[in-house]
Amino acid sequence: MNEIEKRQLIIKYSNSFNSLNLSPLRSGNISIKHKKQNYEGFLITPSGKKYENLSDLDIVFVDSDGKNHHELNLPSSEYNFHLDLYKETDCNAIVHCHSKYSLILSCLRKNIPSFHYMIALAGGDNIVCAEYGLFGTKDLSNSIIRAMKNRKACLLSNHGQIAIGNDIHEAFELAQEVEFLCECYYKCILLGKPEIISYEEMQKVIEKIGNYKKS
Ligand code: 13P
Ligand code: ZN
Repeated sequence: MNEIEKRQLIIKYSNSFNSLNLSPLRSGNISIKHKKQNYEGFLITPSGKKYENLSDLDIVFVDSDGKNHHELNLPSSEYNFHLDLYKETDCNAIVHCHSKYSLILSCLRKNIPSFHYMIALAGGDNIVCAEYGLFGTKDLSNSIIRAMKNRKACLLSNHGQIAIGNDIHEAFELAQEVEFLCECYYKCILLGKPEIISYEEMQKVIEKIGNYKKS
């Protein structure tokens, strides 16, 4: 994929934040790994702009030192955790959103246990809630890196969620799955105390789900 195609995909998925009710107004951010000339880095949504008005040139290239290359806009205020996730994982795309149920559950500052087997989509037997940190800071990024150890998604305390993937389609789909799981868990705990699938059973799910083909 060339740079223009990546910029357009970021815009397409940013608009889906609003149309799919996954993140309201200007909240959330999306990036795709990218190499520009000799610089490793990523293309990311600009900070504080409404998604519906974005054009190709609004997307910002940030290199692996955190510098942006004379772009029109400032990069997302969360470029720190995007930068660190590309360094610490082998993902190629990152989606961060303030989806309603992930946000609600993130305010409890608790991990989501294996109340449903699809929790394994996030990479383990739970979805970890990263410790609270001020948005945009290195501190928040450090908590996220801890929460994402052996995981592809996490909650951010009093904030929302992050999902990563081999490509933007995968990362976005995982963010949708996480939101659906959060909605279901929220409803389960309203009704009572859900039964949790054991660690041993979840290891079987994790192994099996790795071979689960998607078309
Ligand atoms: P940006 O517009 O700077 O990406 O901020 C949105 C956000 O979700 C901060 O956590
Ligand atoms: Zn946010």
